[in-house]
Amino acid sequence: MEIRLPEKEIYLCSDNSEIALMEKLLVFKFGGACLKNVEHIRNAANILKNFKGQRILLVVSAIDKTTNALERVVNSFFAGDSNASGYIEEIKHQHVTLAHELGIIDPFAINEIEDSFIDAIWLLEDEIHDAYEYVYDQVVSIGELVSSRLVVQFFKNEGLDVQWLDVRDVVKTNEDYKNATIDWEATQEGADKIISRAFESSEIVVTQGFIGSTRENNTTTLGREGSDYTASVLAYCLDAASVHVWKDVEGIMTGDPKSYEQASLIGELSFDEAIEMCYFGAKVLHPKTIKPIQNKGIPLYVRPFFNVENSGTFISDKQDIAYLPIVIKEENQALVEVGERDFSFIAENHLSEIFAILSELKIKVYIMRNTAISFVFSTKDDELKLQKLEARLGASYNVKYRRNLTLLTIRHGSMDDVKKISGQSQFLFEEVYGETIQVVYQS
Ligand code: ASP
Ligand code: MG
Repeated sequence: MEIRLPEKEIYLCSDNSEIALMEKLLVFKFGGACLKNVEHIRNAANILKNFKGQRILLVVSAIDKTTNALERVVNSFFAGDSNASGYIEEIKHQHVTLAHELGIIDPFAINEIEDSFIDAIWLLEDEIHDAYEYVYDQVVSIGELVSSRLVVQFFKNEGLDVQWLDVRDVVKTNEDYKNATIDWEATQEGADKIISRAFESSEIVVTQGFIGSTRENNTTTLGREGSDYTASVLAYCLDAASVHVWKDVEGIMTGDPKSYEQASLIGELSFDEAIEMCYFGAKVLHPKTIKPIQNKGIPLYVRPFFNVENSGTFISDKQDIAYLPIVIKEENQALVEVGERDFSFIAENHLSEIFAILSELKIKVYIMRNTAISFVFSTKDDELKLQKLEARLGASYNVKYRRNLTLLTIRHGSMDDVKKISGQSQFLFEEVYGETIQVVYQS
C-alpha cells in the first residue's frame, strides 16, 4: 500500500467554537547510512527540496560508522594508547575531506567543522581524570555535532533556508552517562522556547540525534542508535504532525531477508506492533522511539531514502490491520536457570529478589517461566553480566546458564512457521501467548 503525502500537512483543529488552520511541523531523521558520502548528502538535500514550504525539524546521526570509530578512540585512550588524539585527528580529517568533496570552501565553515573536535582532542591529550562513561559521551557526541555542522553548510549552499541548532540546549537528561534518561520537563521547556524561536527565522532546523546534556551542561548520550528516539522526543514536545525516519531500505520488513526468504515490506503497523517488534530485537528503530509519539498519536513513517515517492512503512494508532507472519531472530542469547538451594519453592519473595538484581545489573529478560523449583529466562549472551549475575545470586541459588543460543520470535504465525524458519523440531524453551510464539534453540 502506498500513502502519498500532501506537500504540506495541514490540520484542522478546533479551538472552542473557532476552527483554526494550523500548520504543524514535520520531524525528519537521517541516520548515518543516509549521510555516508557526497551522493547521499546530495540526496538528503533533494528530499528537503521536495518538501519546500513545509517547516521541518531535521535530526541527524553521525556520518556512516563515525560513532564506532569514536568509540574505538575512547577505548584506546582508556587502554593507555598515547595516540588516541591522533586517531581522532584522522576522523576530523575525513570530515574535512568530505566537506571539500561537497564543495564547501568557506574557511569559516571549515573552521566550524574542525572546531567541533577541539574539546575532545584536549581531553584525549591529557591524563585520564574522569570515568569512562563521562569521557565516552564527551568524545562520541562529536560525531553528531560535526555531521550536523557539515550538512547545514551544504544545505545552505544548495539554497535551503536552514539553520543549525545545538540539541544540548534543548534535550536535558540526568547524569547517567552513556545511557542518559530524558528530563521531560526541562526538555519540553527548551523545545517551546528554543526550537520554536528557531522556526521564526528558518524553514528548516537541523539538530543532532543521540546526544543531550545535564542541567550543568555536560554532554550526555542516550544509548547507541538513539537518534530515532531523539526525533520522537522532539516530535512529542513540539506536537509535530508526523515523524519521518529515512532509511537506506524500503521500510520495515516482515523479517530479515538474509535469513527469511519470504520477507516482504510491511505497509502499515500499529504502534503496539512496532513496540513488540523492537522489543524482541527487530533492528528497525530504537526500542524507545514509539512510546512518546504513541502517547500523542503522532504517526511515524519509516521510508526509503532513495525513493521519496514511496511512504515505506506507516506506523499509527490504527488497530485493525491484517499482518503476515513477522519474524525476529535474535542470535547471541543465553538461557539462565535459577534454582533454589534451600529446598523451598521459588516463590514471590524469591522472584522479587531476583528481579531487583536483574534490574540493578540492567539485564533484559526476553522470555521467562517459573516452575516450582526454578526460574528460567532468556537474555543477551553477555559474559560479563552473566558472571556478575552468578556472583550476586550464587550465595542463595544455583545458577546455570547455556550460551550461544538463538531466540526466534514470530508474531501472527504458527508453530509450523517456527519449525520451518528455525529448521528445528525441538526447542530448549517455548512460549506461546496471544499472537506471539517464541522459541530458544542451539544456534
Ligand atoms: N550515531 C549514533 C550511533 O551510531 C546514534 C544513531 O545513529 O542513532 O549509535
Ligand atoms: Mg548511527
